[in-house]
Amino acid sequence: MRPTRHSAATVLSAAGAACLLLASAVEAQFGARPPNRSSLLDDGALHVVICGSGSPLPSAERAGPCTAVIAGGRMFLIDVGPGSTENLRLWGLPVGRLAGVLLTHFHSDHIGELGEVVFASWTSGRAVPLDVYGPAGVDRVVAGFQAAYELDVSYRIAHHGADLLPPDGGKMAAHTIELAEDASSRVFYDEDGLKLTAFLVEHEPIAPAIGYRIDYGGRSVVVSGDTIRSANVEAASQGVDVLVHEVLSGALISAAAQALESAGNPQGTLIRDTLDYHTFPADVHALAADAKVKLLVLSHLVPPLPAAQAEGVFMRGRAEDAPNDAVVGADGMHIALPANSDERTIETF
Ligand SMILES: [Zn+2]
Ligand SMILES: [Zn+2]
Repeated sequence: MRPTRHSAATVLSAAGAACLLLASAVEAQFGARPPNRSSLLDDGALHVVICGSGSPLPSAERAGPCTAVIAGGRMFLIDVGPGSTENLRLWGLPVGRLAGVLLTHFHSDHIGELGEVVFASWTSGRAVPLDVYGPAGVDRVVAGFQAAYELDVSYRIAHHGADLLPPDGGKMAAHTIELAEDASSRVFYDEDGLKLTAFLVEHEPIAPAIGYRIDYGGRSVVVSGDTIRSANVEAASQGVDVLVHEVLSGALISAAAQALESAGNPQGTLIRDTLDYHTFPADVHALAADAKVKLLVLSHLVPPLPAAQAEGVFMRGRAEDAPNDAVVGADGMHIALPANSDERTIETF
């Protein structure tokens, strides 16, 4: 049998097809091809996307804490944990329409991508400084990231030109949310029907630490930030459509700490220390039931688990007759809440 011979034309056309395929993949990364989810901006619904459901403990499936809220032509991010920017871009979310970042506190797992999210949104069309909201200290965090990225911003403008990359888009504007100890919440943004409220949570010794509530079109979502079970979270979450709440398995973390301590590993103490400023599963489920939330989404999972089957540990303590729905969050989980209705859809990108 004669060996197959490929003509030069066949080889060239195969190379051309491969080239087209690659070009199309690159276009997708810039939002010019699917997945392009910019339609979420203007369909009248309130959208919640879990862009990072992890924690400081490493996980290939879970980026650091990040929740995206998209409504009324704008996107806000609550915390920007490591890996979250890549998720946003892979899923085709409208990063160029990022209107602000809401930081809950300044632990590294919540702020690590601030520089990257400025870059991603600037190169996707944002032309004005990125508003960054947070508790006292946000100005220092913003100034530090800005200093670290200053040279990069200057390189990009010099290389691509100020018409393509308006210099203001490479900047951030810090906004401190002042919350008096006796004031449990404060509306700090109310534009075109989109309302943002901040409230104090309990993450001692990190103080102040805050959580956020977002209201749009008669729908609502609360993001707890890092906290023990908090009366302020419960008050802010009364009847909300979605509560995104942090969770830590006390049983698993205690066991891991014990094992490390027995082996003389000082990381055992580091891990044990985390037990006193997060919320255990039974407490999260009780809070969600007491506040009559409609859907509880567990996120900021500590520890991240290697198999979905093991995640039942985060459902422990949930009453069989719990009035609310509850799910273990995952990166790419998207909840759509159409305006002025009781409808809800959940998908995972
Ligand atoms: Zn924290
Ligand atoms: Zn955290």
